[in-house]
Amino acid sequence: MFGPAVAVTLLSIPPLLLIKYLNYKSNKLSNTLQQEVNKDQFKYMFVTHKNRLCSPHLNTRLICGTNCSYLYLKNILNLINQAQESVCVAMYHLSLDDIYHAILNAHNRGVHVRVIADLVMLTTFGNRVNKLFSKDVPAKAPKIRFGLMHHKFMLIDQKNATNAKVLYGSLNYTVNALINNWEFVLLTNSAHIVKRFSDEFEFLWDNENFAYLGTSNVEIQDASSTEV
Ligand SMILES: [Zn+2]
Repeated sequence: MFGPAVAVTLLSIPPLLLIKYLNYKSNKLSNTLQQEVNKDQFKYMFVTHKNRLCSPHLNTRLICGTNCSYLYLKNILNLINQAQESVCVAMYHLSLDDIYHAILNAHNRGVHVRVIADLVMLTTFGNRVNKLFSKDVPAKAPKIRFGLMHHKFMLIDQKNATNAKVLYGSLNYTVNALINNWEFVLLTNSAHIVKRFSDEFEFLWDNENFAYLGTSNVEIQDASSTEV
């Protein structure tokens, strides 16, 4: 651990002082490691007009650069694939098959998955939330239409201090969002942001205005004003 010169120096220090010194060094190292663990990380993903060129990359699975749409998709998939305990999705529109499969796989490997969807978007062509629900993934939507369930966020391992993350922004889980729109998503492990989104998800999940898809007695009055 120490070289001969350091060992001789340490031996020349009075024992009590030496213990104090070693304790100080140990605490300092421990604090530094803890700060590393607790360090907030932020990963930003912006979709711009340039991402239209990434359309083929979603099929070829080639990454053209740090702002590639396929890289963004891969980041989202990795997040779901690395979930150990829970995945909570509140998503206005979810039609990307890759994300559908990743969520279903997480559910099938024992991760506690819950999905909150928008009532009207459930009936939109390509929406995959009903399909997830038909495969026993717990999913809820508002019971009545009094506004859009317009959220776009996902929590990973929300109760796990070292692995908790939240992904939030404007991006629906659709091809259009990845290549045709101007969008923004932020991925962070920041504990207070994760906590706030986690509280909001639980509030929605337990809210009397939301019900499991199979049990909601839903009247869709006007599906024409949907957006993707
Ligand atoms: Zn690309």
